[in-house]
Amino acid sequence: MAAVGMACRGVASALAVAGLLCLCIMPERGEYRSPMKQPRRPRLWLANAFRGGKTDISGSTKVGIVGGGIGGLAAAIALKNIGITPTVYEKREAYENFGSGTGICIAPNGFLSLKRIDAQLHTEVVKSANLLKELEIEVFGKAKVDDGPRTFEEKYGNPGMHIRWAGIHRILMDRAMELGIPIKFGQSLRQIEREGKDGRVVVKFTDDTKDAESFDLLVGADGINSEVRRQCFSSDNEPERVGRFVIRATIPESENMPPCRTTVRDPKHATLFLKLGSGWHSWAATTRYDMNDPQHIPKSGEEAKAFMLSDEFKLYPEIQNVAKATPANEVFCTDIRQMRGPLKEWVQRNIVLLGDAAHAMSPALGQGANMALEDAAQLAQR
Ligand SMILES: Cc1cc2nc3c(=O)[nH]c(=O)nc-3n(C[C@H](O)[C@H](O)[C@H](O)COP(=O)(O)OP(=O)(O)OC[C@H]3O[C@@H](n4cnc5c(N)ncnc54)[C@H](O)[C@@H]3O)c2cc1C
Repeated sequence: MAAVGMACRGVASALAVAGLLCLCIMPERGEYRSPMKQPRRPRLWLANAFRGGKTDISGSTKVGIVGGGIGGLAAAIALKNIGITPTVYEKREAYENFGSGTGICIAPNGFLSLKRIDAQLHTEVVKSANLLKELEIEVFGKAKVDDGPRTFEEKYGNPGMHIRWAGIHRILMDRAMELGIPIKFGQSLRQIEREGKDGRVVVKFTDDTKDAESFDLLVGADGINSEVRRQCFSSDNEPERVGRFVIRATIPESENMPPCRTTVRDPKHATLFLKLGSGWHSWAATTRYDMNDPQHIPKSGEEAKAFMLSDEFKLYPEIQNVAKATPANEVFCTDIRQMRGPLKEWVQRNIVLLGDAAHAMSPALGQGANMALEDAAQLAQR
C-alpha cells in the first residue's frame, strides 16, 4: 500500500509541477509531455535486477555504478544505507562544475525520494534550497500569481523547492564521500561483457592500462547518451531533438530579481527566473528553431549571450538586462533532446539503468532529476 500511495503522490505532484513548467517552456507537439506516460518502476528493483535468485544480495555484493551525476550518486548513497558499498565510475577527470548554469525544481516526488534515500542528505538539500511558494505567470499580456505550490505539502505530503544543480550535486558528492563510497574519476565506460550466460558483468574503461572490473550488479546511471543503454538495451529509442534550445545561467542573488516568474509574450519564446537558495538566482530562456537548419544553435557562452542580446528577445528586456550583466563564460546553451518514452526494459539480468539513461525527457517537465532520485530510492527498496 505504501508503494501505491507513493506512486499516486508521485504522479499527482508530477502533474502539478509539469503543468507549471510546460507553461514555462511550451513543449513541442509530440514531445514527451504526459507524466502519465512516465515509466512504472518495478517494485523491489534491486531484487528484480537479480532475476531468478541467482545472486544473493548481501554486504559483499559488488556493485558498480557508471556515472556520478545526480542519479548515480543518489543510488550509491541509497545502496550504502542498505549495507552495500558500490563504486562510482565517472568519466570526468575531477569534480568540476557539474550542471553548469542550471537551476532545477525538486518537486514533491523528488523531495520524498531524498527523505527515503538518506535523512542527512535530505536535510542538507533543504537547507541549501529555496522552498517553492508561488509562481508569477505572464502569458500574452495576462499576469497572475499561482499560489498552488503553497498547497503541495498538504496535497502531496511534501513541498517543492528550487536549487542550483551544482549545489545539489555537491551535496550528494560530499555525502557519498562522507559515507566512504569510492568515486573513481576519469573512468569512461568502453565495453561491457558477461562471464557466462547469467554471470558477472565485466567492464572495461577507456584507460587501457587498467584491468577490467567485474561486478555482481552494474547500474547504468550515465545520462542521456548512456553507453550502458547503447551496449545492453534496445537501440530503437535513442534521444532525438525536439527543435528547441535553452540558454541559461546561475548568478548571485539580487533583490531586483523575481523569486519565480515565467513570461511568454510570443509563440516562439519563453523566459524564466528562479530564486535558488544559498544566495543564487537563475535565468533561462528558450526558443524554437527550424530542425532542418540547426546551424543557429549557439555553440559557446559568447554566442549564447549574443543571441540573448539580439532582436530574438527584444520583447523580453528584463532578461536581456540580466543576460547583459552575466559573464559570457557563465552562460550555457543546451539543444533539448529526449527519448520517445521510457525504455520497455530497464533491467537485463544483473544490469539496470536509471535516470536519463532509462528515460531522458525534456527539461520542460522539470522531472528528469526528480525521477532519477525516485529511481535511486526504488533501487534500494527492500
Ligand atoms: C536546462 C535544464 C533544466 C533542467 N531542469 C530540471 C528541473 O527543473 N527538474 C528536474 O527534475 N530535472 C531538470 N533537468 C533534467 C536533469 O538535469 C536530468 O534529468 C538529471 O541530471 C539526470 O540525472 P542522471 O544522473 O540520470 O544523468 P546526468 O546528470 O547526465 O549524469 C550522468 C553522469 O554520467 C557520466 N557519464 C556519461 N557517460 C559516461 C561513461 N561512458 N562512463 C562513465 N561516466 C559517464 C556523466 O559525466 C555524468 O556525470 C534539467 C535539465 C536541463 C538541461
